Amino acid sequence: MAPSPKSTPEANANSNNDGKYPDVNWEEMGFSLTPTDYMYVMKCSIGEKFSQGSLIPYGNIELSPCSGILNYGQGLFEGLKAYRKEDGRILLFRPEQNALRMKAGAERLCMPSPSIEQFVGAVKQTVLANERWVPPFEKGSMYLRPLLMGSGPSLGLGPAPEYTFLIYASPVGSYHKRSLNLVVEEKQHRASSGGTGGIKTVANYSPVLNALSRAKAQGFSEVLFLDAATGKYIDEASACNIFSVKGNSISTPPTHGTILPGITRKSIIEIAGTLGYQVEERPVAIDELLDADEAFCTGTAVVVTSIGSVTHQGRRIDYKTQADTVCQKLHEILTGIQMGRLADTKGWMVEVN
Ligand SMILES: *Cc1c(COP(=O)(O)O)cnc(C)c1O
Repeated sequence: MAPSPKSTPEANANSNNDGKYPDVNWEEMGFSLTPTDYMYVMKCSIGEKFSQGSLIPYGNIELSPCSGILNYGQGLFEGLKAYRKEDGRILLFRPEQNALRMKAGAERLCMPSPSIEQFVGAVKQTVLANERWVPPFEKGSMYLRPLLMGSGPSLGLGPAPEYTFLIYASPVGSYHKRSLNLVVEEKQHRASSGGTGGIKTVANYSPVLNALSRAKAQGFSEVLFLDAATGKYIDEASACNIFSVKGNSISTPPTHGTILPGITRKSIIEIAGTLGYQVEERPVAIDELLDADEAFCTGTAVVVTSIGSVTHQGRRIDYKTQADTVCQKLHEILTGIQMGRLADTKGWMVEVN
């Protein structure tokens, strides 16, 4: 997009950080790590509460070889974005939702967690310390990655004696993949009832790499997992939620344990309801998805992305994508709110200052 002479977002944005943008080609940034200046670190012992964290230069951390995270996967991650508005101000999208989700995950994994205020405050401090890395208006966003882990040593199986909460940041591109081609995984499952599919534990992700690598080797972009109990219902992709559209009705599986309660998912359900769609959170059979008009995935990284095709038992179904899709409409509104192009009538955006 050529800068218009009247509106000069770069100039405005520059005035917000003294013109000190780093030497980055914003246009070519994808979703990969660009290390920034500072990270936030806060520690506490088991049985205590997190109290005081600090910003330190971004870099490697030291861990006991016997730490809970390295030995038993006692760890959680989060992901959220900060956006620069046209006037240079920086906004976060529903950060308290990430804080609440980390708190729920921490309870499940027997870890202390920062309070909602501590979490949001720490995210803001991390953004401000790395402000020059927040891309200019509409050139991308700053991805924040909070981690919570058992950092103390524990050889016998049990909760670690010490915990570390850490946040690092990376600018990421505003790339919009045209559509995803999913393949249904027939043998492996992502999560089962009573397990940890509903929390963002690090331990949920290495088990999907095998299916994901096989899918990519065959030219697919993502894997679609089915429910572990019957193999008849759709669960989600490896790191995003899924929606099925038929006529005026939009359906997505309920978050009763195996599905990660995505904040994008929740926001899209609200937006779609406001637009007059009939939105249902209920089990969605794979056969129903194969018969849908349209399908899309949601998540902080993918935002709202059309599914171009789903391949199940060798049969490929193609869906409507791009112009005039429900997905496109929802994408327009969600990103409009996030970038500050549309009024934030729901009170979702939190200013960093
Ligand atoms: C993070 C994640 C999502 C999306 O959650 P958002 O809050 O929308 O980013 C969906 N599924 C899985 C498995 C995830 O890890």
